[in-house]
Amino acid sequence: MPLSTLIQRSSLPSPSLSEAQAHALLQAHYDLAGSLSRLGSQQDLNLRLDTGQERFVLKVCHGNYAQMELEAQHAALAYLREQGLPVPAVRPARDGQSLLALNIDGQPLRARLLDYIEGQPLTRLKHMQPRLMAELGALCARVDKALADFDHPGLVRTLQWDPQHAQALIEHLLPVLQDAGQRSRLEQATRLAAAHLATLVDDLPSQAVHLDITDDNAVWARDEQRQWQLQGIIDFGDLVRTWRIADLSVTCAALLHHAEGDPLRILPAVRAYQALNPLSETELRALWPLVLNRAAVLVLSSEQQLAVDPGNQYTRDNIAHEWEIFDTATAVPFALMEAAILQAAGIEPSRPDLADCALLLPDLAREAVTRVDLGVLSPLCEAGNWEQPGFDQRQLTAQPAPACSLHGQYRLSQTHIDRPDEPATCALGVELHVPNGSAVQAPQAGTWQRHGDGRGCLRTAQWALWLSGLEDTPADGQAVAKGQALGNSCGFLSVQLCLDASIQPPLFAAPSQAAAWLALCPSPAALLGFDCDAEPLADPQALLARRDASFARSQKHYYAQPPHIERGWRNYLIDMQGRSYLDMLNNVAVLGHGHPRMVAESARQWSLLNTNSRFHYAAIAEFSERLLKLAPAGFDRVFLVNSGTEANDLAIRLAWAYSGGRDLLSVLEAYHGWSVATDAISTSIADNPQALETRPDWVHPVEAPNTFRGRYRGADSAGDYLRDVDAKLADLDARGRQLAGMICEPVYGNAGGISLPAGYLKEAYAKVRARGGVCIADEVQVGYGRLGEYFWGFEEQGVVPDIITMAKGMGNGQPLGAVITRREIAEALEAQGYFFSSAGGSPVSCRIGMAVLDVMDEEGLWQNTRETGRYFKARLQALVDKHPLAGATHGSGFYLGLELVRDRQTLEPATEETMVLCDRLRDLGIFMQPTGDYLNILKIKPPMCTTRASVDYFVNSVDRILSEGL
Ligand code: PMP
Repeated sequence: MPLSTLIQRSSLPSPSLSEAQAHALLQAHYDLAGSLSRLGSQQDLNLRLDTGQERFVLKVCHGNYAQMELEAQHAALAYLREQGLPVPAVRPARDGQSLLALNIDGQPLRARLLDYIEGQPLTRLKHMQPRLMAELGALCARVDKALADFDHPGLVRTLQWDPQHAQALIEHLLPVLQDAGQRSRLEQATRLAAAHLATLVDDLPSQAVHLDITDDNAVWARDEQRQWQLQGIIDFGDLVRTWRIADLSVTCAALLHHAEGDPLRILPAVRAYQALNPLSETELRALWPLVLNRAAVLVLSSEQQLAVDPGNQYTRDNIAHEWEIFDTATAVPFALMEAAILQAAGIEPSRPDLADCALLLPDLAREAVTRVDLGVLSPLCEAGNWEQPGFDQRQLTAQPAPACSLHGQYRLSQTHIDRPDEPATCALGVELHVPNGSAVQAPQAGTWQRHGDGRGCLRTAQWALWLSGLEDTPADGQAVAKGQALGNSCGFLSVQLCLDASIQPPLFAAPSQAAAWLALCPSPAALLGFDCDAEPLADPQALLARRDASFARSQKHYYAQPPHIERGWRNYLIDMQGRSYLDMLNNVAVLGHGHPRMVAESARQWSLLNTNSRFHYAAIAEFSERLLKLAPAGFDRVFLVNSGTEANDLAIRLAWAYSGGRDLLSVLEAYHGWSVATDAISTSIADNPQALETRPDWVHPVEAPNTFRGRYRGADSAGDYLRDVDAKLADLDARGRQLAGMICEPVYGNAGGISLPAGYLKEAYAKVRARGGVCIADEVQVGYGRLGEYFWGFEEQGVVPDIITMAKGMGNGQPLGAVITRREIAEALEAQGYFFSSAGGSPVSCRIGMAVLDVMDEEGLWQNTRETGRYFKARLQALVDKHPLAGATHGSGFYLGLELVRDRQTLEPATEETMVLCDRLRDLGIFMQPTGDYLNILKIKPPMCTTRASVDYFVNSVDRILSEGL
């Protein structure tokens, strides 16, 4: 069929068939009845039939579709099914025919019935994980591999979507575009594609291809973890024999809808394809021009379709969608995408030969060059100094000339915060500090182009060299010979090579684009005559493997593929490529990461002395006094240990010693530590799935007073929960057992910071004390001002415990824990022997403990926690009002929880959704993890220096993800 007929055919509206006619057809030919619903299609009529037991798709097309082509589709479906590919089966009609030729109301039509694949396309999914892109690429590879030796006479056809006709079709359809700007963009892109394809097409292998393996035609369903799993591929209407690479180009073009403006995001599809069905380098080079052509054809076809069938809402809806593909496809230079595709397929693009170049700076003392490290771990970067504009240049010029920055280094100065996109951190050129007036010469013959401000570009036959910081440069457009002067340096010179002379490259690239950009902007080392290349970063996967092989695995890490992080600053953690993640998890680093006061305090004390509490030094007395000042009246003795576990373990021993009993009340679902005793009182299933079966007989857990989802609900449920306390105590009384005491967190931490019901601790403490027991408040998480409204958690309940245990934030990460109590309790232990912890209360720990308190005070961190915490809670509450999944907020200050439920009545926990949300937050540069026994609560416990801007970024991101759907 000639192309003109084809275009005419593509302009036909879909066949029309009333519902009654469809029912009659199904009854007459297939003996089937049921309800019908319309499925979208550009040119055919697709109806889903639901019989109650089974579902089918009735596909009706115009009678002028060649029978042979439809038979080819059926044969391919059968062929693929035989090879285990997930494609629908064709159901024969009553007479055994799988393809019906009909005439309805004078319209010649063809109809067939296919199995319906349950699931849905992900067309409108805004964010598509790389895994899904890879799966679509892999599916395309499997189909191509399976069809490699499939043949049928119906494959030879002239199809509008066949890329072999793209150029002709584009030329033919371009006039439908009214907007001259749009037209010229399309022309430019497709001209470039044509130029590249011209040298490749002769070597492209052909075979049968599906040619429509897209987000529209792949059917997915969620598994139990709410992860999308591929169910099958439908719509074989474009089956044709053409270039094999055409199939992947169609898939890649469709994936551009989900690339969020960055075409490199589709590379997982290429990688996955290549792994299963390796493509030749020629095919890989043809891929991007074919994608550009496909993008242009999609836009033009839709525009044309709309012109002939203005009522087709499907086409109308699609037009913006098609332009999005085109805009994304043209968002980066062609050469970058070509390099990225080759790299994804494991082919490193070739590098230019710079061996016979003259030196750029012939007089430079090359052996004296200082390599200046501006990377994430650079010792030059401290206490946030990299945030000041001009940091890199200042560091370079502070070094004696000659000094040079490093090509390919991920620079800390380029990081950014509270933003979803990766920062462009990877240096694509170098900067030099050279003696003022240093002569600069052309390494090769070329043409000089001035770009103003001492910036210019030397274009040679092979590459372009971008320079800035020059005076006395040649005239614009002047031809220069190799070795000819390009000017003199003003002292600070920037040098960047680029293999694509048609673009002005950026100075920095985002980590995900760095490899491709570095292929386009290779190192200028050969032109400089010295090594200016950064050391490659250690492979984070290899490091993780070493961890797994040496560090006992019960000590888990966050995320399956965790980012490699060696630096933090304030409430951010910064990975080795300079991406800053908002740290919403680290309740230990209360002051924030990298605090200069911590650095100074520990360095000073280490330089003086670090011993143990058996020696006599001032810090131990000073720190103990300061802790007692923070505690309520009556507390007069301190023990210093190294962790919350130790503090709680010691508190249990104190209760035993003081009461003479062993039996202890604890609260279900709490966590108190890992030692034998603290593990015994910890019943959080998330920490220990066997928690309830493994209690020793001295532990008596009471019902968790969870006012949100516990057995009794609401703030006035104290009386109900106390009945369980009474029951446990009555049982001990009946058995004549002496109670040692009760331990609990005064705010229910494991469930995201739920307040205990009013009056609960007052009553419970009274009951415990009446039996000679000791009341222990585990303030390890909630104490020290984290709640914002109270310094200690027990203040909320209006009680005073007998023992306070504290750790975590009090050392800002330095191992430091404390038990604060009264003298008579402390002395009860003394009667049993000494207590000594080798590092507990060491001079370094005490100094750090005091510095933490000083900084909290000086920087107003308690006030910030209260004020920003209130704002935070209000913003979270607004999410609860907006999104059904956001069930409730808990906590206060910087101890907050957002609980996700599938149903506000049953409170069915949205465990899988919470995990998906946390993973998605990480993509947006936020660290967040689930907590609670159902892992359905966001554990929000950031450093206490967290700002309103960070809170806004966090809440806006959660809002965005909940709006996109989980
Ligand atoms: N008590 C509570 C309430 C805790 O949350 C934790 C730690 N998560 C501990 C005790 C144990 O503290 P550490 O990890 O310092 O031993």
